[in-house]
Amino acid sequence: MPPGMTGNAPEPKPWIAAIAPYVPGRATADDGRKVIKLSSNENPLGTPEAAREAYRSAATELERYPDAGATALRAKLAAHYGIEADRIVYGTGSDEVLHLAAGAFAGVGDEIIHVRYGFAVYEIATRRVGAVPVIAADRDYATDVDAILAAVTERTRVVFVANPNNPTGTYTAREEIARLHAGLPKTVLLVLDQAYTEYLEPEDDDGALELARTESNVLVTRTFSKIFGLAAERVGWGYGAPAIIDAMHRIRAPFSFGIGAQRAAIAALDAHDFITASREHNRQWRGWFEREIAGLANHGLRAVPSKANFVMVLFEGALTAEAAYQALMAAGYATRWLPGQGLAHGLRITIGAEEEMRAVMAVLRAEVARAG
Ligand SMILES: *Cc1c(COP(=O)(O)O)cnc(C)c1O
Repeated sequence: MPPGMTGNAPEPKPWIAAIAPYVPGRATADDGRKVIKLSSNENPLGTPEAAREAYRSAATELERYPDAGATALRAKLAAHYGIEADRIVYGTGSDEVLHLAAGAFAGVGDEIIHVRYGFAVYEIATRRVGAVPVIAADRDYATDVDAILAAVTERTRVVFVANPNNPTGTYTAREEIARLHAGLPKTVLLVLDQAYTEYLEPEDDDGALELARTESNVLVTRTFSKIFGLAAERVGWGYGAPAIIDAMHRIRAPFSFGIGAQRAAIAALDAHDFITASREHNRQWRGWFEREIAGLANHGLRAVPSKANFVMVLFEGALTAEAAYQALMAAGYATRWLPGQGLAHGLRITIGAEEEMRAVMAVLRAEVARAG
């Protein structure tokens, strides 16, 4: 045995030991009872029927490895969005694509910036590669471009920005995204995470795809988990300059992307009626919910303005977010309370079906009355 090797077990790297594990949205109450899940921003309309059928068609070919190049899906995405197929990378959810971005461009001692109240995966992806998470302050829960730019140092390698942002639902306008990009060194990879972009109004184009097409340091990520209703199958992708995509492919697990996932995603892209209905439902019930919350302003409730399929409700009066979370859970509705992310005073609530939203409001009204 080489000298100095005296421990009793393999030791995880210190930066791995420092990771606080991701906490998924809950589907059950403490007693194991199944609850209605308004905690993971899934689509209350389900999955497009054509995507289900395409998924089933994969069942006869399970002995074969999937196409490691995801050729058919990339061709479909390229045609659908008017982008180049050879500049697309894919993964098991956009989570994997975010990890690939950190893994290809940052390492021990480097810095990766994300916003306070940002997507929890950014910090995990940062620490996983030994990089240091650097947190940029928000501006009333929204992304503050100046704070991000002020946080850049010569060690910065990646900036993660979700637009709309999760868990706040806030949106950063095209000019602000352009200003962020213009202020970054060309050596810093700007990752624009568009997990909720399909919920935006047509006039709300943040320009991310265009930046990824024309600039050498921008990666856009998208997912099939939200409006396309395929969260279980884990389909995400990224688009950027050839050199960015090439580096990410080098560290990708070659067959991570299953055949059912690829087939279902291709079919979901064409489910126009389903996607339109999902966007319409979200617009209608998010608007309703925000108005109802505004009606409880005198009880200290406030909704952060959202362009996504969820709303961050702040509790700044007698009723606390924790008490509201427990009451909703007791009534059978799981929402997202995020004290670990500095949001002990907020609940992120996914826009669900009509009866679910009405039931949530009934619980909140009863609770504010009780709290006085
Ligand atoms: C839900 C979400 C994702 C997507 O995750 P998948 O791994 O694709 O399911 C990515 N980014 C943000 C900000 C999200 O909220």
